[in-house]
Amino acid sequence: MATITSPVRSPRIQHTDCFIDGAWIPAASGKTFETINPATEEVIAEVAEGDQEDIDRAVKAARKAFDKGPWTRMDARDRGRMMYRLADLIEEEADELAALESLDNGKPYKEARTADLPLVIDCLRYYAGFADKIHGSTIPIRGNYLTYTRKEPVGVAGQIIPWNFPMLMAAWKWGPALAAGCTIVMKPAEQTPLSCLRMAQLASEAGIPNGVINVVPGFGPTAGGALVAHRGVDKIAFTGEHRTAQLIMRNAADSLKRLTFELGGKSPNVIMADADLDKAVAGSYIGLFLNQGQCCCAGSRVFVDRRIKDQFVEKLTKLTRARKVGDPMAMDTEQGAQIDKAQFDKIMHYIEKGKSEGATCVSGGERAGDKGFFIQPTVFDNVQDSMSIAQDEIFGPVMSVLTFDDWEEMVERANNTFYGLAAAIWTKDLSRAHDFARRVRAGTVWVNCYDVFDAAAPFGGFKMSGQGREMGEEGLKAYTEVKTVTISLS
Ligand code: ADP
Repeated sequence: MATITSPVRSPRIQHTDCFIDGAWIPAASGKTFETINPATEEVIAEVAEGDQEDIDRAVKAARKAFDKGPWTRMDARDRGRMMYRLADLIEEEADELAALESLDNGKPYKEARTADLPLVIDCLRYYAGFADKIHGSTIPIRGNYLTYTRKEPVGVAGQIIPWNFPMLMAAWKWGPALAAGCTIVMKPAEQTPLSCLRMAQLASEAGIPNGVINVVPGFGPTAGGALVAHRGVDKIAFTGEHRTAQLIMRNAADSLKRLTFELGGKSPNVIMADADLDKAVAGSYIGLFLNQGQCCCAGSRVFVDRRIKDQFVEKLTKLTRARKVGDPMAMDTEQGAQIDKAQFDKIMHYIEKGKSEGATCVSGGERAGDKGFFIQPTVFDNVQDSMSIAQDEIFGPVMSVLTFDDWEEMVERANNTFYGLAAAIWTKDLSRAHDFARRVRAGTVWVNCYDVFDAAAPFGGFKMSGQGREMGEEGLKAYTEVKTVTISLS
C-alpha cells in the first residue's frame, strides 16, 4: 500500500534573515548557521546568525515602536483586529506552515496540522479578544481623592523560545504581549527558526506596524544573552531549561527586568486501581509519547497501583510496539524524529543508564532506522525512584513505570522532585482526585485526562518548573504594569 504523504511535502523557505523594523536583513556580521532536517540530517537552509548588534537594532526598533509608534496609542480594538487578521492568515496557510514546522522540527506533519496549528490560531484569537478588555479599577481610599488604576503595557518584551513547539511557543508569547500593547523582540530556538520567521511576515501582512514584532534568529549565549542583558528590554519571557533560566536570572539582575519562566518537568502520572484502565493507558501513552516525548509536561513518572501494574504495562506496550515511527510527512506516522544529534545522544544515554541501573526495558530501547534522529518508543518497568530515568528530565520517548502500594506514600513520592509543572491522576474516586489535586505541587493537574491545553487555561510551574503563568487572563499579568493614579478632589 502506497503511503499517503502530507498535502505539502516541500514547504517553501521564504525567510532566513532577521526581521527587524518590518524589513528582512542579514546578520550584521554576515554570519549564517545551518538549520537541519532531523528526519534526514540534511541542511534545509542557512539562516542569519543574529548576535549583539542585531539584537541592539531589533531592540531599538521595538523601543521606537513602543515609545513613539502608533501601536501603544491606537484604539485597542484595532490592535485586536490585527491579531484576528494574523490568526486568519495563519489559518489560510496552515498546510504550508504545518509542513514547514514538520520539516524543521521532525514532528509528524499530521500532528503539526491537527494539534499545533489549531492551538496557535486559537491562542491568537483568544488574546485578540482581550485587547480591549484590559483595564484597571477605581479604588475608594481615605480622604477626598479619586484613585484609579491603569494596566499599562510593560514595554519591550524579549521572548526566548525552545524548539519543541516553535509556532505554539511564539503564539503563547505574542498573544498576551500584543493584546497588552507591548512590542516584541523574539529569539527563536537555533534548531527551529523557520516557522517563527514566516509568522513574522504574516504579522506584517496583517497590518501589525513595523517594529512591533522583531525576530532575531541565533544562538542562546550570544543572541539570547544579548537580549537578556539589553537595557532597552523591559521584560524577558523564557521557555526552556531551568539551568538556562538560572543564567538568565543572573544576567538580568543588573537591569532588574521582569522575568517569567516556563521550564522543565518530571511529571507524575498516577494510575489508581479503580481507574478505567483502557482510558488510563491511552492517556498515559499520549501523555508521554506526544511530540516524540519532547514536552515539558510529559508524564514521565507513571505511578501505577501494584495490583494493576502488570495489566497496565501489557496494554501500554501493545500500543508502543505498534506505534509507527518514521517519515514525518507520511500521514500515518505517529512519531517523527528527535530534534537533533545532541538530544538523540542524550536520550540514548538515558536508555542505556536505565538498563544498567536495573530497570526492565519492556518495549523499544533502541534507535529506529539508521538515518535521522529516530528512537523507538521505550518503556521501562520496575523503575525505582532513585534511578536517573526517574529523576532527570529525558525529553524523549522514554517512560518510567513505578509501582505504589499506599496513597500517602505515593503522594509524597509524586512530590519528591524539584520540578512542579504538571501532574495527573486516573481514578473514579472523586475524593482521591480532589485530595491529589490539592496536595500535588504542580501548576497543572489533569484528572482522567492528559495534555488538555486551552488558550483560556493558565499554564506554568511550581518550584523549579517556572515563574509566572502563560495563557488565560493570568498570562496577561506578565505583560502589564499597574499604575495607580490619585487625584485630589478638594
Ligand atoms: P533546550 O534544551 O530546549 O534547547 P535551552 O534552555 O538550552 O533548552 O534553550 C531554550 C532557548 O533558550 C533557545 O532559544 C536557546 O537558544 C536559548 N538560550 C540558551 N542559552 C541561553 C542563554 N545563555 N541566554 C539566553 N538564551 C539562551
